[in-house]
Amino acid sequence: MIAVEQLNDKQLAQLIGTDKYDEELRRRALALRRKIYGNKIFVRGLIEFTNYCKNNCYYCGIRCGNNKAVRYRLTQQEILDCCHKGYDLGFRTFVLQGGEDRYFSDEILVPVVAEIRQTFPDVAITLSVGERSEESYQHLFQAGADRYLLRHETADEEHFAKLHPAQQQLSTRIACLNVLKKIGYVVGSGFMVGSPYQTADTLVKDIRFLQTLQPEMIGIGPFIKHKDTPFNDMANGDLQLTLRLLAILRILFPYALIPATTALATLADNGRELGMQYGANVLMPNLSPQAIRNKYSLYDNKVYNGDESAEQLAGLKSRMAQAGWEIVTDRGDPKRRV
Ligand code: SAH
Repeated sequence: MIAVEQLNDKQLAQLIGTDKYDEELRRRALALRRKIYGNKIFVRGLIEFTNYCKNNCYYCGIRCGNNKAVRYRLTQQEILDCCHKGYDLGFRTFVLQGGEDRYFSDEILVPVVAEIRQTFPDVAITLSVGERSEESYQHLFQAGADRYLLRHETADEEHFAKLHPAQQQLSTRIACLNVLKKIGYVVGSGFMVGSPYQTADTLVKDIRFLQTLQPEMIGIGPFIKHKDTPFNDMANGDLQLTLRLLAILRILFPYALIPATTALATLADNGRELGMQYGANVLMPNLSPQAIRNKYSLYDNKVYNGDESAEQLAGLKSRMAQAGWEIVTDRGDPKRRV
């Protein structure tokens, strides 16, 4: 049996680069996930509340340089309506995700968080709105946000510079993540699998970075090209490599909340079930208003109907039940090592 925890960087890179141990990794990841989280799946209602973005990440369809993107932002009332709908469906975590939209200054965003907090005292509020000042993170936390998702995208400086324009810096991302931790957020980070110029060595750095940060949530999903970005003719991330990394992460972070992401479900029809088999324990169905769902287009063919749609939670529940999983109505807080 491979002791993933004890591998040095070179050995870990070799493990990432071969499919030879996938079955062993899968079994171990699944056993750990079962031991700590049973057969439960936590669900989060994902509200994509703005696709305006001041950043220009080369991989992302809502980058400011994409003038073909049809832009939208939801009002406070529209966001609240999504929460009401989600609450009635049984969601107890709402994830507010968006581009880095200057319109949503603290003056606008803090009251949104405060109203959700007041209206739904028993839900967890997760934010995923990119890099902000320490002061801003503090205000949002005080208003009632509990968790924050900010993928580091890649922990290798050179690789980071190939994915982002020079105004964006890995050091800033890392500083943000450390501040979020310090403030007391439950923090999530992560990366795309198969992003252009990624190597087994950069992936080792990603894993080492996560081991230092010790986030409670880890989000990974395959890179998928978007037709209106500079990476429009790059290859998509590999399904099996994504699953292998899910398993490795579960083994190294037994207590982490790890979603089977929308990108994984976009790459493979049974991506969610496969993700669960390799150690994932979270799903994030789309709770955004139907009319704008196709506009939050990070990559081509992003799924948002059927099992990916919050309204279809009952269907998702029965499909997951067939695979032996139980979707629960719960905040789904991380369990901690005792
Ligand atoms: N503005 C927020 C939310 C970004 S979108 C922030 O900066 O955190 C959420 C995640 O989608 C990103 O962190 C990125 O890892 C992923 N993503 C963006 N473009 C993608 C693509 N083409 N393929 C797969 N995932 C992508």
